[in-house]
Amino acid sequence: MKYGAYIIKYAEIGVKGKNRGFFEAALAEGVSRALSGCGDGFKVTCIAGRLYVEALGDHDFEDVKERLGKVFGVLGICPAVTIARVDRKLPDIDALCDAAVKCFHQVSGIEEGDKRTFKVKCRRVDKTYPLDSMEVAAKIGEKLLDAFPSLSVDVHEPDILFHVELREQVNFFSLEIPGPGGLPTGTAGKAMLLLSGGIDSPVAGYMIARRGASLEAVYFHAPPYTSDRAKAKVVELAEKVAGYCGKIRLHVINFTAVQLAIYEKCPKDELTIIMRRQMMRIAEKIASNNGCIGLITGESIGQVASQTMQSLLVTDAAVMNMPVYRPLIAMDKQYIIDMSQQIGTYETSILPYEDCCTIFVAKHPVTRPRLDVIVKHESEISGELDRLVEEAIAGEEIIEA
Ligand code: ATP
Ligand code: MG
Repeated sequence: MKYGAYIIKYAEIGVKGKNRGFFEAALAEGVSRALSGCGDGFKVTCIAGRLYVEALGDHDFEDVKERLGKVFGVLGICPAVTIARVDRKLPDIDALCDAAVKCFHQVSGIEEGDKRTFKVKCRRVDKTYPLDSMEVAAKIGEKLLDAFPSLSVDVHEPDILFHVELREQVNFFSLEIPGPGGLPTGTAGKAMLLLSGGIDSPVAGYMIARRGASLEAVYFHAPPYTSDRAKAKVVELAEKVAGYCGKIRLHVINFTAVQLAIYEKCPKDELTIIMRRQMMRIAEKIASNNGCIGLITGESIGQVASQTMQSLLVTDAAVMNMPVYRPLIAMDKQYIIDMSQQIGTYETSILPYEDCCTIFVAKHPVTRPRLDVIVKHESEISGELDRLVEEAIAGEEIIEA
């Protein structure tokens, strides 16, 4: 038996007051986008605080499950077995009971013979149905008990809550596959993700996108010190994150000249921190030129020398007019790794690559930089840096991921 529909539950949108319609429309759009080109198509409607996704023909359940599992705003996905009306009539109670018995194992996800408790819950949206919802639930419950001796009823804490809805058609559903949660893409604003080839930044981008933000991304490479393979890896990571939040424009910035200037003229132990400040400066400029209202990085307190609280203060001060979102700031590395595995970026992130940050690093970078000292050293080459920064931005390459 095929699933004829998917009932999508969402969480926070339900409490959005006057903006609820806006969030629901964005969720419906996200779902439609995720399912485009899948099977024979789907019709997405919003009914009574949930999204109803009706299959218009054949489709592959696993494919649908994977696609819907990537839509932000989706809390749970309930695959439903549906029964259409015949001559505009819903099935009578005997036919309804037979259908419930027939689809019970598929709908509940248990094997025949499994000992479980259950409860039938009926919603009678079509008020013309001759029996009321209590009667329908009782009849179906009775038939299920007769048909499957390993089941028993528990009305308080059932293992299986078997839903029966009498609407335009009948829906039977019970299983709930968890979705990613968050808010629908396009309901926040657009932010610029500083995307490296590492483990952290893709996770950081994912987390902010999960709150409804759209993303652009910027990657700093340093040819010939970093390879095309390293760039290809970042493109692949951008594509993976885009699988959740829709297309990402990736700005690839040639950072070599900036990096060499810093390398030649600044104290060796300050290279990384000054370089990171220049990255932030460039990222902010590209962000504001492209309608982004925030930056995102994968920084986490204390992870490396450039991420001590003192270093973060100095890095942060390079950004003038927008917030820097650092969703991983308080997370341990293992937690971030677990998340990257969960969202599917880990395998790409661990491929070997050269990071432009690591090529010019000092053996003993400052871990407690002072902002006034760093700014002073930077200002000694500010004319040259300003020019190189402008040239780097002018020479950007844009890749649609
Ligand atoms: P990641 O795993 O994200 O690379 P990391 O632990 O290696 O992070 P750093 O190299 O210090 O840490 O970088 C901190 C953050 O700065 C990254 O999470 C990313 O947002 C940004 N970043 C670092 N290198 C680059 C780069 N080459 N291009 C774009 N952003 C970068
Ligand atoms: Mg890195």
